[in-house]
Amino acid sequence: MARARFGEFNIPDGVQQANEGNGERVRTPPPRLSIELVPSSSWYTNVRSEVSKAAWDSLRHACYRNAGHRCEICGGRGPQWPVECHELWEYDDAQGIQRLTGLTALCPECHRVKHFGLARVKGEQEQAGRWLMQVNGWTRREVHEYVQDAFRVWEQRSARAWKVDISWLDHREARPAPAE
Ligand SMILES: [Zn+2]
Repeated sequence: MARARFGEFNIPDGVQQANEGNGERVRTPPPRLSIELVPSSSWYTNVRSEVSKAAWDSLRHACYRNAGHRCEICGGRGPQWPVECHELWEYDDAQGIQRLTGLTALCPECHRVKHFGLARVKGEQEQAGRWLMQVNGWTRREVHEYVQDAFRVWEQRSARAWKVDISWLDHREARPAPAE
């Protein structure tokens, strides 16, 4: 199975994981708010860099409108701007394909959690961790373990090159980027 190799990491993120004792695989429901770390090997490929500025603006504004300008996870809005556009990716670990599956509107607090690595670099991990506690109803320890797991998967995924598939955009009339 595509995701079986990550089974030993006990990822509480909707990923198939080994059920200790009988070897069966069970699916843990994903937490309401999850961390989504993009492998460092594909940091420089994102929707923003693949389409024109006008196309990106059109995509993100449609995303905001569809969400009613509210966070699609917590329903909140940011104090300075209500929501930001977050790229949703799925990882085919067997094929090495990172596939865009959509865009979602998130408040700045939830968006910071998605990019927990960046939050760390900016010294905002305490704030991000507290938001994870609040939205998921987790203890500090649960957050700590979840973060460790997320970075373990990220390290594994960052050790390889990914074929980035953004064909999702083909149905959004956002490609090809017009020559400007
Ligand atoms: Zn939110």
